[in-house]
Amino acid sequence: MTTLVVPESHLRENPYDIAKEQLRRVAELFGVDPNLVNVLQECKKAVVVSVPVTMDDGSIQALEGYRVTHNIARGPSKGGIRYHPDVELDEVKALAMWMTWKCALMGIPFGGAKGGIRVDPKKLSPAELQRMTRRYTSEIINEIGPEKDIPAPDVGTNASVMAWIFDTYSMNKGHSVLGVVTGKPLNVGGSLGRLEATAHGALYCIQEAVRKREMRMEDLRVAVQGFGNVGSFLARFLAEQGATVIAVSDSRGGIYNEAGLDMAAVLAHKQETGALEGLRGAESITDEELLVLDCDVLAPCALEQVITSSNADQVKAKMIAEGANGPVTPAADEILDDRGVLILPDVLANAGGVVVSYFEWVQGLQEYFWKEDEINSRSSATSRRVRSTRPGARPRSARRACDWPRTDWQCGESPTRRSRVGSTPEASLAMPPWRTRALPVRPSDPGLQGHGPGAQG
Ligand code: NAD
Repeated sequence: MTTLVVPESHLRENPYDIAKEQLRRVAELFGVDPNLVNVLQECKKAVVVSVPVTMDDGSIQALEGYRVTHNIARGPSKGGIRYHPDVELDEVKALAMWMTWKCALMGIPFGGAKGGIRVDPKKLSPAELQRMTRRYTSEIINEIGPEKDIPAPDVGTNASVMAWIFDTYSMNKGHSVLGVVTGKPLNVGGSLGRLEATAHGALYCIQEAVRKREMRMEDLRVAVQGFGNVGSFLARFLAEQGATVIAVSDSRGGIYNEAGLDMAAVLAHKQETGALEGLRGAESITDEELLVLDCDVLAPCALEQVITSSNADQVKAKMIAEGANGPVTPAADEILDDRGVLILPDVLANAGGVVVSYFEWVQGLQEYFWKEDEINSRSSATSRRVRSTRPGARPRSARRACDWPRTDWQCGESPTRRSRVGSTPEASLAMPPWRTRALPVRPSDPGLQGHGPGAQG
């Protein structure tokens, strides 16, 4: 008899149940109409596809792929595509729902979506990866589009994958469709600043929290879990701002130096060897050890559910910046709240990526590309607008909901009233009062004076 070894998933709890529970708590706190909650707790559309891929040895593997749209009331749905062996439908649904909240919080005219394939991309050759991506795109081609649903990179995907999606979609349409996907390489309609945008956004949040807590960046000791797009840029940016990065990790292990890691050396070592471990002058550290290190800021930038009820009471960080989506479970959240740990939640802390994705989409639709300083000033203005509006009341039992700063549209109208704008939940979502302000900018918009093509000649 053969025993099948099934790899353990990183998901300890059902992420969609977690996302729905979070919605229920927030709805209760703000007195949101239960009819609206009934609509918002479901995903509008979930597509499961089989993705047959011819492997380099001639065999064919049928992989399972997903694309989920949670909500489109504010505009086309937007969300990344994940290639990871643990991807499952309920994970994609949760990630799609969180995207809806994130886009709304940042005031950008998108709903939430997410997609993925259950696959380990590290085990594929570049040619297999490309064939799989093109076939997946073909399978979901009727679901995506610049006015419908716009993918972007997430765990295990990057600019090359986005270029293949763009190319496959455009080939089928017979012309270049720049707005179908964001996170593209610069030479096929990508945006300056997109690659590092998520980490930039997380940095802005940490800086603001540090300022509010009357701390100094130079005194911060930071541990970063995950050393991909989000984690590696964030660790670098924090070090550039004077913080001491004492530990970083990736899926193969972590490194630690109490006196601080030299980020240039870490990046060079990772590029050269493909791993973090083995860097001269740094000790090895397990992922579990990194999460409970004595530090000021812990930035989980890998996957969901890494801080749970089983390790939350050992976390020593004073602040957690959720670079990843859903790294802290609700049970852990309560434990950390009781202990006074400040959490910068994912929908705010990692929203910088979708903000610059929005800018890339706008640039693609206009076929007019902005300079890097324009991207950065607009992105920091968006983030400042969210951060500078007044925080809500803070009943202790619902910290996650209440600590989120309110956006300008939230300040103008109470959530309860907003939920009653229309006669049905769908109607109340259909014409949100902030929608007109958040529509893609046109060169003739008065609000663009000094920034549009006219201003630049
Ligand atoms: P990525 O694939 O570029 O990097 C993921 C990193 O996590 C890799 O270094 C990988 O080795 C590491 N990792 C995986 N399992 C790990 C483990 N058990 N312990 C330690 N490290 C582990 O992905 P990314 O784009 O950086 O995304 C990371 C997180 O940020 C995800 O939750 C994603 O949803 C979220 N996010 C990403 C973006 C974006 O723009 N890329 C935007 C918003 C949120």
